Amino acid sequence: MRLSGPDAARAVSKLAGIIPPPRSARRRRLIDPASGEPLDDALVLWFPAPNSATGEDVAEFHLHGSRAVLAAITAALTPLGLRLAEPGEFTRRAFQNGKLDLTQAEAIADLAMAETEAQRHQALRQLDGELGNLYRGWSQKLIRILAHLEAAIDFPDEDLPPEIEDRILTETAALATEIDRHLADGHRGERLRDGIAVAIIGPPNAGKSSLLNRIARREAAITSPVAGTTRDIVEVAIDLAGYPVLLADTAGLRDSDDPVEQEGLRRARARARVAEIRLFVFDARHPADARAAAAWPGPDTLLVANKIDLLGQNADRVLGNPLPPPGGEGRERGASPPDDHARDCLPTDVFTMSALTGAGLDPLLAALAARIAETYRSEAPLLTRARHRQALEDATASLHRALTAALPELRAEDLRLALRYLGQITGAVDVEHLLDIIFRDFCLGK
Ligand code: GDP
Repeated sequence: MRLSGPDAARAVSKLAGIIPPPRSARRRRLIDPASGEPLDDALVLWFPAPNSATGEDVAEFHLHGSRAVLAAITAALTPLGLRLAEPGEFTRRAFQNGKLDLTQAEAIADLAMAETEAQRHQALRQLDGELGNLYRGWSQKLIRILAHLEAAIDFPDEDLPPEIEDRILTETAALATEIDRHLADGHRGERLRDGIAVAIIGPPNAGKSSLLNRIARREAAITSPVAGTTRDIVEVAIDLAGYPVLLADTAGLRDSDDPVEQEGLRRARARARVAEIRLFVFDARHPADARAAAAWPGPDTLLVANKIDLLGQNADRVLGNPLPPPGGEGRERGASPPDDHARDCLPTDVFTMSALTGAGLDPLLAALAARIAETYRSEAPLLTRARHRQALEDATASLHRALTAALPELRAEDLRLALRYLGQITGAVDVEHLLDIIFRDFCLGK
């Protein structure tokens, strides 16, 4: 249990007697000051302001965490004027006392919610200040540009270097480019927070649901139904080699006149489009079905030939060549042979597996994990929240406006605006109205 604020010292001395020396643990019997009744045997730590997590006086009681102990200690503290913290209140006070910037405060929430290694890693980088430092660096650059511009406006007759106007424009353009590049990251940081979308698509009865079930059972570290999934799209959250993946099973792709099925198909196609990676599953006995994968060309569609357990001795022939030669396998189901265009568009990787026996699943999952790792490994810190994105978009729009401003005074105004938007991200300026929104989503006790 953690106490923070000006009454912490009094509370510790009332319950635990002598306050321990700063930052060193002491064993104390905690006593209810009202009744004299012993409450627990605890370790007590004391962090005097300002060298504490919140910047205020902080005490920690390491208790025998049962509900009865917590209730008894809380009841003993309440008459001393203490109350339970709001969600995120410790972090909010740390921010208000200058211990953290807003991006770090948000990182604490992310760290507390992280379900996979990659999410933990990203949150920790942000907590270390990587993102805040990047944005503060941009603010510093902008302040310098603005200072030069204001000097030029205020002292037009002084001996300012003649190229100053050019320099202001060049540096503003360079900063706008840098921010634009950071924004054009394919939402990787945000996706890492929320989950990377992978869609299982393919014809009906190919084994899509069976594949989802098998993967979910194997990798079910965080399997949970995700809120908002539609009746016809089943989605599970899994931890794939440390990456949070939202795996969706979609309606089988086929032509249909049934309006309900058409709606399912529309949703399946929409999900396939927004998914970052698609697993196109088809029955290995009907390789011509793979032609439909041509609708999603490129390396982000992995082709999966399922039900190889049913192939018997034909396996080698079909697996070696997922597209039958004209007049081959496809004819058996009345399909016409694939044209050269379709053949060109098909993804190159073909994974063979059996959702029934589990054969071939590991290489498929390894390839999926490798593809994700390749995309998400990042040296530069990634933008992690829509809030940051919005502020950066506003900032770069102001910079672009500044570049075309007709008068130096108008240019300065746009640069000041951009500076303000950047400041909102770290909380350097004008964020009082944002704080309730940001801290609302925190867990209790953080
Ligand atoms: P979906 O319509 O694509 O989701 O296909 P399902 O997962 O519902 O599977 C259709 C049928 O194929 C079911 O009867 C499954 O049991 C069967 N099935 C799925 N995968 C395999 C497999 O790898 N081998 C065999 N023999 N049957 C499978």
